[in-house]
Amino acid sequence: MVINFAAGPAKLPEEVLKEAQANLLNCNGTGISIMEMSHRSPNYGVFHELALRDLRELLNIPTNYKILLLQGGGTGQFAAVCFNLMGRTGVADYVVTGSWSAKAAKEAEQYGKVNLVVPKVQKYTTVPSQDTWKLDPNASYVYYCDNETVDGVEFDFVPALTNGVPLVCDMSSNFLSRPIDVKKFGLIFAGAQKNVGPAGVTIVIVREDLIGHHMKVTPSILNFEQMARNDSLLNTPPTFCIYVMGLVFKWIKRNGGVAGMTKNAATKSKLIYDVIEKSNGFYSCPVEKRVRSRMNVPFRIGSVEGVDALEKKFLAKAECQGMIQLKGHRSVGGIRASLYNAITVDETEQLAKLMTEFFQNNKTQN
Ligand code: PMP
Repeated sequence: MVINFAAGPAKLPEEVLKEAQANLLNCNGTGISIMEMSHRSPNYGVFHELALRDLRELLNIPTNYKILLLQGGGTGQFAAVCFNLMGRTGVADYVVTGSWSAKAAKEAEQYGKVNLVVPKVQKYTTVPSQDTWKLDPNASYVYYCDNETVDGVEFDFVPALTNGVPLVCDMSSNFLSRPIDVKKFGLIFAGAQKNVGPAGVTIVIVREDLIGHHMKVTPSILNFEQMARNDSLLNTPPTFCIYVMGLVFKWIKRNGGVAGMTKNAATKSKLIYDVIEKSNGFYSCPVEKRVRSRMNVPFRIGSVEGVDALEKKFLAKAECQGMIQLKGHRSVGGIRASLYNAITVDETEQLAKLMTEFFQNNKTQN
């Protein structure tokens, strides 16, 4: 038995993998694999359209928003957002609350003026409340990352902007894990490889009136206007990834929709945070409680000098029991349990049990 707590690419529902496997050699009776079909063929088109329709339904995406399926990952969008939206004033607000929003802000500096809305910090442990933010009234957009995958910081609110400035959000690591009011956003993007599919496809949900104002030098593959006009088929899309993502959308629909994912996410993350809280400091999570991520739970084990040895021991024990990819991101160390949609409550209970036992057996060394 293996339980895969990876931060991404991450676990996919077994049902989805089995369905993909069953159709791999002969997709819908065509005699060929989905991977071998023209992206302009009606056979592929059915999957493409269905994925878009199901996503629109799952998130209640209004008709004045386009859904684009692009390549280049979240990192591609760090640039695409600038190329497409920054030209209006040449300035953008960035709310840096973790490693990924920091990377996005750094990328944006190449294309215009970046206003850092909250003070720079050494360690990311919180989301400063919005009344402390220093927004630039001239900004083309306000950018933030809803869930910081490395640091385990997740917004507990949607920023309220009153001046008509579009809100841009990176939802790569908590996409489809809770309902969102799409109307509040100008643009939402998410790489698929955490909650909704294999690596290789990036979803962009963008309000129509924001399309068409790109910088002259915008590469075609990052150009929202060209992509929207061509239904994301300007060039060859990642057809297999889109197909599998479509299967995941159907799996989410069968499992209570976004509301079902939200309920599970609350149950699963509570299981792990409760063990941390009840361990008298044996386990510690540096993130302020209000904004602790339901998707990525980073924690340390032991006192400062004992940290590495105990963590190595814990990771080895976990591996012995089939629980893998629990090592924290290389930039911060420690342990990180990623609890994306495909991870079950039962699997999370097994991790919680291991943590409790490990605490009981090792607390004296701390
Ligand atoms: N944003 C977030 C929140 C992420 O977690 C990641 C990747 N882990 C990225 C952006 C970058 O995505 P990619 O590797 O697909 O470029």
